[in-house]
Amino acid sequence: MSAQMYQRDPRAGLFLGGQRTSGAEIRDQNVMACQTVSNILKSSLGPVGLDKMLVDNVGDVTITNDGATILSLLEVSHPAARILVSLATQQDKEVGDGTTSVVLLASELLRRANELVRNKIHPTTVITGYRLACKEACRFMADQLSTKVDKLGRGCLVNVAKTSMSSKILAADDDFFAPMVVDAMLAVMTVNPRGEKKYPVKAVNVLKAHGKSARESFMVKGYALNCTVASQAMKTRIQGAKIACLDINLAKQRMHLGVHITIDDPEQLEAIRARESEITLERVRKILATGANVILTTKGIDDLCLKEFIEAGAMAVRRCRKEDLRRIARATGGTMISSLANLEGEETFEASSLGHAEEVVQERISDDELILVKGTKVVSSSSIILRGANDYMLDEMERALHDALSIVKRTLESGSVVPGGGAVETALSIYLENFATTLGSREQLAIAEFANALLTIPKTLSMNAAKDSTDLVAKLRAYHNAAQAAPTSDPKRKLMFYGLDLLKGEVVDNREAGVLEPTISKIKSLKSALEAATSLLRIDDSIVVQPEER
Ligand code: ADP
Repeated sequence: MSAQMYQRDPRAGLFLGGQRTSGAEIRDQNVMACQTVSNILKSSLGPVGLDKMLVDNVGDVTITNDGATILSLLEVSHPAARILVSLATQQDKEVGDGTTSVVLLASELLRRANELVRNKIHPTTVITGYRLACKEACRFMADQLSTKVDKLGRGCLVNVAKTSMSSKILAADDDFFAPMVVDAMLAVMTVNPRGEKKYPVKAVNVLKAHGKSARESFMVKGYALNCTVASQAMKTRIQGAKIACLDINLAKQRMHLGVHITIDDPEQLEAIRARESEITLERVRKILATGANVILTTKGIDDLCLKEFIEAGAMAVRRCRKEDLRRIARATGGTMISSLANLEGEETFEASSLGHAEEVVQERISDDELILVKGTKVVSSSSIILRGANDYMLDEMERALHDALSIVKRTLESGSVVPGGGAVETALSIYLENFATTLGSREQLAIAEFANALLTIPKTLSMNAAKDSTDLVAKLRAYHNAAQAAPTSDPKRKLMFYGLDLLKGEVVDNREAGVLEPTISKIKSLKSALEAATSLLRIDDSIVVQPEER
């Protein structure tokens, strides 16, 4: 390695302490780091991909095949590789799925770009070529490969959910979970002020309960809380609920540790005790005075307060999860309150902090007692209660469910899908190869490399399925070539929807087979992979700045 140590340069008045690496060397290093990351993920791509077991420094085990989860748990320190990690995280946040694909694609784009630069093509030319290729690919995908969801109906949504689940732990039960995911998402539809339909994933609450099998999981409409009412004597059904979401301990107020009070009369002690109880009761009365009939708190409720709630005919639930209450407050139009004190130091509780729902009820569903908040005022909610043998399974089920929910949301909001199983990538690859030959400039080479990089997805998919990837990808390319060469009205154009059937090792019409993905997710991953690859390609100097030694 020819990295040099730079000392203080008195002429420039500049301190360049630390290590500097430039030119081809830094590009090689970055490519190698990204290849290492993508090689880790490679074997987990697709429905027949394998899982990774990650053990952290305290021995906690995570078993997963979700790209974003794997990368977030790895302690990646190379700055270039960290860009790929953030790429996966971003994809997970924005789309919810496609995290492995985006990392594989970005690292392949980078590797091929580096080859071009080695062959004396300037990085800026490569970047311009890549950008043009991505733009053309997105246009072609939207125009030629995507199908409107309305045309395919509800079955299409179920298939999108199944495709997302197919590589995860839920694959074996996808016919059970996919309709559940679609129902859960459809139940939380809201219309925003601009009149657009929105499907917030956070409105679907996922609860995990140990025991039983995955197929005994179930969905309920309404927001489910894994809690029970605080006392047997309380009502278990409240209609026209006015809900107070609190992060306050409703128990006898005690003086803080270390407070010293000197008294000379035992009656004063009694008075202090009475006042301690009184403070809490005043709070409870203030809350009830606003008309609140359901009180949910993240902390405790003592007997003194319980009595007050029972007498008022209210329902109180203690030890709720903070995250749950925050979401209930949002869904019901209320506010989560963590202190009753206002700016003047007085304790008040405003009726405007209350959330509204048609009904709050405690129900026994299979063996569980759950509190259900139904008919929430602002955003309707649904809940999925997952059953599974152990924590590892439940955690992975939750991740898979989250991906499927996000993908269904994207499909519903964008309204168009493309065939999966390498169909899109191969179609785009053929299209870009042809497109490249129409250009008479240097960018042609970069576009051709972009086209080749896309094939990494079908190649990896078939390799993971233990099939002959060279054979399968060649066949797939032949189909797509024929499709794109045919005139628009020719039946051969249908070959454009052909992708891989990884179990049989054949090339099939994946639109008919129901292997579908939202167009927006594919477009997003192309764009993000391009951004990550180009931002790394632009780097021609790396300086590790060290603190000045004194
Ligand atoms: P990611 O994290 O990128 O979503 P996955 O492991 O979920 O990675 O794999 C997604 C890839 O697997 C996509 O390219 C998708 O088209 C493909 N795929 C999913 N289900 C099938 C299937 N039944 N047949 C063929 N390919 C599939």
